Amino acid sequence: MMKTNNEIEQIANDILNKFLKRGGTYKIFDEIMRTENIKFKEVNSTNFNFIGALTKGNNGQVYIMVNSNIDNFGRRNFTIAHELGHYFLSHHLTQNAFYCAEEMIVEEGLWNNPIEQEANYFASCLLMPKEKVKSAFLNILFYSRKAKIKDFLHVKNDYTFGIWKPIKDELTKRYGVSETALRFRLQQLNLAKFEFSN
Ligand SMILES: [Zn+2]
Repeated sequence: MMKTNNEIEQIANDILNKFLKRGGTYKIFDEIMRTENIKFKEVNSTNFNFIGALTKGNNGQVYIMVNSNIDNFGRRNFTIAHELGHYFLSHHLTQNAFYCAEEMIVEEGLWNNPIEQEANYFASCLLMPKEKVKSAFLNILFYSRKAKIKDFLHVKNDYTFGIWKPIKDELTKRYGVSETALRFRLQQLNLAKFEFSN
Protein backbone atom coordinates (compact mmCIF):
# COMPACT_ATOMS: atom_id res chain seq x y z
CA MET A 1 0.00 0.00 0.00
CA MET A 2 1.68 3.16 -1.17
CA LYS A 3 1.46 6.41 0.70
CA THR A 4 0.78 9.89 -0.58
CA ASN A 5 3.37 12.63 -0.22
CA ASN A 6 1.23 14.28 2.44
CA GLU A 7 1.08 11.10 4.47
CA ILE A 8 4.85 10.69 4.21
CA GLU A 9 5.41 14.28 5.26
CA GLN A 10 3.12 13.78 8.25
CA ILE A 11 5.06 10.72 9.39
CA ALA A 12 8.32 12.69 9.13
CA ASN A 13 6.81 15.61 11.05
CA ASP A 14 5.60 13.36 13.85
CA ILE A 15 9.15 12.10 14.32
CA LEU A 16 10.54 15.62 14.25
CA ASN A 17 7.98 16.81 16.80
CA LYS A 18 9.06 14.03 19.08
CA PHE A 19 12.84 14.42 18.74
CA LEU A 20 13.92 17.69 17.21
CA LYS A 21 14.38 20.71 19.40
CA ARG A 22 16.54 22.91 17.23
CA GLY A 23 19.12 22.65 14.50
CA GLY A 24 19.50 20.13 11.73
CA THR A 25 17.88 16.71 11.81
CA TYR A 26 21.20 15.01 11.08
CA LYS A 27 22.23 15.87 14.65
CA ILE A 28 19.51 13.64 16.10
CA PHE A 29 20.01 10.53 13.94
CA ASP A 30 21.72 8.78 16.87
CA GLU A 31 18.93 9.62 19.26
CA ILE A 32 16.24 8.43 16.86
CA MET A 33 18.04 5.13 16.25
CA ARG A 34 18.70 4.57 19.95
CA THR A 35 15.05 5.17 20.82
CA GLU A 36 13.85 2.86 18.06
CA ASN A 37 16.45 0.25 18.97
CA ILE A 38 18.03 0.34 15.53
CA LYS A 39 21.69 -0.62 15.35
CA PHE A 40 23.85 1.61 13.19
CA LYS A 41 26.91 0.37 11.32
CA GLU A 42 29.38 1.98 8.99
CA VAL A 43 30.67 -0.41 6.40
CA ASN A 44 33.92 0.16 4.58
CA SER A 45 33.00 -0.88 1.07
CA THR A 46 34.34 0.29 -2.24
CA ASN A 47 31.29 -1.17 -3.94
CA PHE A 48 29.00 1.77 -4.58
CA ASN A 49 26.19 -0.54 -5.56
CA PHE A 50 25.71 -0.35 -1.85
CA ILE A 51 25.67 3.03 -0.17
CA GLY A 52 23.03 2.34 2.43
CA ALA A 53 20.97 -0.54 3.75
CA LEU A 54 18.21 -1.42 6.14
CA THR A 55 18.26 -5.02 7.23
CA LYS A 56 16.56 -7.19 9.80
CA GLY A 57 18.28 -10.04 11.64
CA ASN A 58 16.62 -13.36 12.47
CA ASN A 59 15.93 -12.10 15.97
CA GLY A 60 14.14 -9.08 14.53
CA GLN A 61 16.97 -6.66 15.23
CA VAL A 62 16.94 -3.82 12.70
CA TYR A 63 20.22 -2.48 11.32
CA ILE A 64 20.95 0.62 9.30
CA MET A 65 24.23 0.53 7.46
CA VAL A 66 25.99 3.16 5.44
CA ASN A 67 29.01 2.96 3.26
CA SER A 68 31.77 4.77 5.13
CA ASN A 69 33.32 5.83 1.83
CA ILE A 70 30.62 8.36 1.03
CA ASP A 71 32.75 11.48 0.92
CA ASN A 72 29.98 14.04 0.89
CA PHE A 73 28.41 15.00 4.23
CA GLY A 74 25.05 15.88 2.69
CA ARG A 75 24.97 12.66 0.73
CA ARG A 76 25.73 10.64 3.84
CA ASN A 77 22.93 12.33 5.78
CA PHE A 78 20.50 11.82 2.93
CA THR A 79 21.39 8.14 2.84
CA ILE A 80 20.77 7.64 6.57
CA ALA A 81 17.49 9.57 6.32
CA HIS A 82 16.51 7.40 3.34
CA GLU A 83 17.12 4.21 5.34
CA LEU A 84 15.14 5.65 8.26
CA GLY A 85 12.43 6.17 5.65
CA HIS A 86 12.30 2.45 4.85
CA TYR A 87 11.93 1.86 8.58
CA PHE A 88 9.36 4.50 9.51
CA LEU A 89 7.30 3.85 6.39
CA SER A 90 7.20 0.20 7.52
CA HIS A 91 8.79 -1.10 4.33
CA HIS A 92 10.83 -3.49 6.49
CA LEU A 93 7.69 -5.29 7.60
CA THR A 94 7.18 -6.75 4.15
CA GLN A 95 10.78 -7.08 3.01
CA ASN A 96 13.69 -8.19 5.18
CA ALA A 97 16.45 -6.20 3.58
CA PHE A 98 16.93 -3.15 1.45
CA TYR A 99 20.29 -2.67 -0.16
CA CYS A 100 20.19 0.73 -1.71
CA ALA A 101 22.51 1.47 -4.57
CA GLU A 102 23.86 4.86 -5.35
CA GLU A 103 21.39 5.43 -8.18
CA MET A 104 18.39 4.57 -6.00
CA ILE A 105 19.00 7.23 -3.39
CA VAL A 106 18.10 10.22 -5.43
CA GLU A 107 18.10 13.60 -3.80
CA GLU A 108 15.92 14.95 -6.58
CA GLY A 109 13.37 12.40 -5.43
CA LEU A 110 12.93 10.81 -8.84
CA TRP A 111 13.23 7.10 -9.07
CA ASN A 112 10.94 4.67 -10.78
CA ASN A 113 10.71 2.20 -7.91
CA PRO A 114 7.87 3.48 -5.69
CA ILE A 115 9.36 2.07 -2.47
CA GLU A 116 12.67 3.86 -3.09
CA GLN A 117 10.79 6.97 -4.17
CA GLU A 118 8.88 7.00 -0.87
CA ALA A 119 12.09 6.67 1.11
CA ASN A 120 13.61 9.55 -0.88
CA TYR A 121 10.65 11.79 -0.27
CA PHE A 122 10.69 10.91 3.42
CA ALA A 123 14.40 11.78 3.60
CA SER A 124 13.71 15.15 2.05
CA CYS A 125 10.91 15.90 4.54
CA LEU A 126 12.89 14.67 7.52
CA LEU A 127 16.05 16.62 6.75
CA MET A 128 14.30 19.77 5.58
CA PRO A 129 11.07 20.24 7.53
CA LYS A 130 8.59 22.20 5.46
CA GLU A 131 7.72 25.02 7.85
CA LYS A 132 11.30 25.53 9.04
CA VAL A 133 12.76 25.59 5.55
CA LYS A 134 10.04 27.90 4.37
CA SER A 135 10.51 30.48 7.10
CA ALA A 136 14.31 30.28 6.93
CA PHE A 137 14.28 30.73 3.18
CA LEU A 138 11.83 33.64 3.21
CA ASN A 139 13.71 35.27 6.04
CA ILE A 140 17.03 35.25 4.21
CA LEU A 141 15.30 36.41 1.06
CA PHE A 142 13.69 39.27 2.93
CA TYR A 143 17.05 40.55 4.16
CA SER A 144 18.84 40.04 0.88
CA ARG A 145 19.96 42.92 -1.28
CA LYS A 146 16.91 42.70 -3.49
CA ALA A 147 14.26 42.69 -0.83
CA LYS A 148 11.58 43.34 -3.40
CA ILE A 149 11.75 39.65 -4.29
CA LYS A 150 9.45 38.44 -1.57
CA ASP A 151 8.19 34.94 -1.84
CA PHE A 152 9.63 33.21 -4.86
CA LEU A 153 13.15 33.14 -6.24
CA HIS A 154 13.75 32.31 -9.86
CA VAL A 155 17.49 31.69 -10.06
CA LYS A 156 19.06 32.45 -13.42
CA ASN A 157 22.47 33.52 -14.70
CA ASP A 158 21.93 37.08 -13.52
CA TYR A 159 21.76 38.99 -10.23
CA THR A 160 19.43 36.31 -8.82
CA PHE A 161 22.41 33.97 -8.69
CA GLY A 162 24.02 36.35 -6.22
CA ILE A 163 20.93 36.16 -4.05
CA TRP A 164 20.90 32.38 -4.23
CA LYS A 165 24.55 31.91 -3.21
CA PRO A 166 24.22 32.97 0.48
CA ILE A 167 20.89 31.17 0.82
CA LYS A 168 22.47 27.99 -0.49
CA ASP A 169 25.51 28.35 1.79
CA GLU A 170 23.39 28.95 4.87
CA LEU A 171 20.72 26.31 4.34
CA THR A 172 22.94 23.44 3.14
CA LYS A 173 25.00 23.97 6.26
CA ARG A 174 22.07 24.30 8.61
CA TYR A 175 20.29 21.18 7.38
CA GLY A 176 23.34 19.11 6.49
CA VAL A 177 22.21 18.54 2.92
CA SER A 178 23.71 18.84 -0.53
CA GLU A 179 22.82 21.66 -2.86
CA THR A 180 20.94 19.16 -5.06
CA ALA A 181 18.73 18.08 -2.17
CA LEU A 182 18.08 21.66 -1.11
CA ARG A 183 17.15 22.80 -4.60
CA PHE A 184 14.74 19.95 -5.03
CA ARG A 185 13.04 20.70 -1.72
CA LEU A 186 12.70 24.41 -2.47
CA GLN A 187 11.17 23.68 -5.85
CA GLN A 188 8.81 21.23 -4.30
CA LEU A 189 7.73 23.77 -1.69
CA ASN A 190 7.15 26.26 -4.47
CA LEU A 191 9.73 28.69 -3.15
CA ALA A 192 12.25 28.66 -5.94
CA LYS A 193 13.02 27.57 -9.46
CA PHE A 194 16.46 27.04 -10.97
CA GLU A 195 17.44 27.76 -14.53
CA PHE A 196 21.10 28.54 -14.66
CA SER A 197 24.20 26.98 -16.07
CA ASN A 198 27.39 26.82 -14.02
ZN1 LIG B 1 16.32 2.46 -0.40
